[in-house]
Amino acid sequence: MTFSENKLIIAILIGAVAGILSGCIFGTAMVSVVWIGDLFLDALKMMIVPLVIAAVISGVSSLGDIRKLGKVGGATLIYYASTTAIAVLIGLLVVNLIQPGVGIGQAGTALSEEISNKANTGFVDIIRSMISPNIISAAADMKLLPLIVFCLLFAAALTTIGDKNITIIKFFDGLNEVMMKLVIWVMTFAPIGIFALIAGKIGSAGGAEAIQQELIAVGSYCFTVILGLSIHFIVLFIILILFSNQGRTFLIKLLRALVTAFGTASSSATLPLTMECALEAGVDKRSIKFVLPIGATINMDGTALYESVAVMFIAQAYGISMGIGEQTIIFITATLAAIGAAGIPQAGLVTMLIVLEAVNLPAEGIGLILAVDWFLDRFRTTVNVWGDSVGAAVIQQYLPEENTKDLK
Ligand code: ASP
Repeated sequence: MTFSENKLIIAILIGAVAGILSGCIFGTAMVSVVWIGDLFLDALKMMIVPLVIAAVISGVSSLGDIRKLGKVGGATLIYYASTTAIAVLIGLLVVNLIQPGVGIGQAGTALSEEISNKANTGFVDIIRSMISPNIISAAADMKLLPLIVFCLLFAAALTTIGDKNITIIKFFDGLNEVMMKLVIWVMTFAPIGIFALIAGKIGSAGGAEAIQQELIAVGSYCFTVILGLSIHFIVLFIILILFSNQGRTFLIKLLRALVTAFGTASSSATLPLTMECALEAGVDKRSIKFVLPIGATINMDGTALYESVAVMFIAQAYGISMGIGEQTIIFITATLAAIGAAGIPQAGLVTMLIVLEAVNLPAEGIGLILAVDWFLDRFRTTVNVWGDSVGAAVIQQYLPEENTKDLK
């Protein structure tokens, strides 16, 4: 790691800590910096669509052959599915041990319109959301899942047309390089951007005292979620050490992305930085281009863990017991609901309705945890991004050998 990268990591960490302190000390006055945070967020979002298109097409076509795509794709899906399943199991374990919802009652706030309007999101909707009839409008609405599906198909077809594909592949390779350069430029504003995002959010939430009130009401629930997420973070770290050629410094190299995930509560907005950090850490470009964009869209370990804890918490609060059968349903639906959640703030809260419905719990139960969701969202997004990054390092082992040099 170069001197200037070290300086940037330190500056981002200082920005995050200063954001927490100023938000707590100056409270609502910090609402005045919200626009600076939004500006930084918009700069990151501005890059997502061209970056995802360029990365997925150039990453997949660099694998060379559709059969190799199958092997890498299979390994990637196994990684996503197994780590998400482990996350949900950890969530169920901690929530059964701590039982944070027992005896807290059902007094919650009313469901926000945004959530009640989406109450009919189901599995069919998730499957349907994978294909868009209009890829331009999907891109305009930043619906990444149909965009990625289109790019995967496009790149797969590209590998089958012989030499005619050379110019197109070169174009997307070049576009990808340009986008990564832009990421580096935007990243220099990360310290002030992260500062403003965190200070502004704490300020809008009413400052330290207001947050304290919210946290105390469901303190044991927050503790359970954060404990589960911390355990899963460590499990992923162990997976990294066991199944990749990366060492402990990988975590330090990824810090900029992890702090940005915490600051933005959006894995999609963090994606450009995640890709840049993984590149700095020495992960193979093909793995970065393939695993990270898809991961930021469907691989959400933190969200899956959070959903299982939240649903069990609501059941405990309502005094409804969840046996092994119901918990198996929670296990399956939380895994799938996390896949359906977009990489944007509080998306997991919406897809959680699927899990609640599957075990016949009232959607109003979400009212119990609504007030603290923005806060927990930051922790789960950090774990989501960590899960994707570890995935890129692990999947690297399954890439085909040939062409590695000229693609690097
Ligand atoms: N905010 C999360 C993410 O972007 C999704 C969620 O759990 O709400 O990864």
